[in-house]
Amino acid sequence: MSGLVIKNTGSWYTVLFDDGTTADCKIKGNFRLRGIRSTNPVAVGDHVEVADGFITEIKDRKNYIIRKSPNLSKQSHIIAANVDQAVLVVTVNYPQTSTTFIDRFLASAEAYRVPVILLFNKTDLLDADERHYQELMINLYETVGYQCLQVSAQTGEGIDRLLPLLEGKVTVFSGNSGVGKSTLLNTLVPGINLRTAEISDAHNTGMHTTTFSEMIPLNLDSDRRRGGAVARWREETPEIQSSKANLVPPYPRTSVPPKQTSATADSEKRTWLIDTPGIKGFGTFDMEPEEICGYFKEIFHFSKDCRFRNCTHTHEPGCAVRKALEEHYIAESRYNSYLSMLEDKEEGKYRSDVN
Ligand code: GDP
Ligand code: ZN
Repeated sequence: MSGLVIKNTGSWYTVLFDDGTTADCKIKGNFRLRGIRSTNPVAVGDHVEVADGFITEIKDRKNYIIRKSPNLSKQSHIIAANVDQAVLVVTVNYPQTSTTFIDRFLASAEAYRVPVILLFNKTDLLDADERHYQELMINLYETVGYQCLQVSAQTGEGIDRLLPLLEGKVTVFSGNSGVGKSTLLNTLVPGINLRTAEISDAHNTGMHTTTFSEMIPLNLDSDRRRGGAVARWREETPEIQSSKANLVPPYPRTSVPPKQTSATADSEKRTWLIDTPGIKGFGTFDMEPEEICGYFKEIFHFSKDCRFRNCTHTHEPGCAVRKALEEHYIAESRYNSYLSMLEDKEEGKYRSDVN
């Protein structure tokens, strides 16, 4: 029987089958996944085959998010598979999210081809200066090509614009601690008090990492029946209905409209939230300097005109990136983030030379 892994508690996996039932399954002792050295071969978001309570097969993944152990072991932990998008929750203040943090996250998401929405939270707390700074940030990231939203998880302001973007997708929520992820998730899914246990080496042992992650279903229809928070925003903001309509893929007028599938099956199967506390990005792997550039959309755009194909955009003559930087087509903060990733790379090389 085929199903979706929605919860992973280390040795047990909860699988949701196509008929809506769930079962706790195990994996066969020596089950290994080709090419991935991981502490957990199966992750939430995996589509699997199950026989007699055992996961026997993992379907090909569209993508997966790994987190490497901070120690130097080559082991990594798969946090989730088949992710449609990430919401990076940021705050310009209380606490301030640095542009370096944002850019590193965006670059790693590019590497995994996961689209990112930047969610600016705590807008209710901003004074005029902070609001201005936030507008500059939004202008920057929208120009680069990222969708930005301003919300307050506390007051609910702006959440109506987030909901249509989540519908029908598997969305990973990330962000520094304190930016309001729990508040946001609790507002979106009233009653969840589960908090995905931090998949971290809190005590730096690296040996006994907690492996627990869960996909949280966001059922917009049942919320509407309950009159929950999501529904209230919907009712208060009629334009959501029209923005929701925009999500329906266009089809030619002459063709027959697609058949409606059952509302519950649809929403239960397809709208999922994954909380990933402590994830600073989608893992890093060995990249060449040219590749790092490829994960900064606008830098990559200008790099095509550099004189040297392997230009690192640091000191080379005829560098179109540095020219664009001087002419303010590339933001200094973005370029600095790029440099900081290059430097990491150099440090990494240095370390491996020594070892
Ligand atoms: P997390 O670490 O990202 O999960 O952050 P929390 O959800 O625990 O939020 C950290 C603090 O910020 C809590 O005291 C929340 O009540 C508060 N908070 C979260 N969102 C907002 C918001 O939009 N406005 C205000 N004023 N406070 C918020
Ligand atoms: Zn260059």
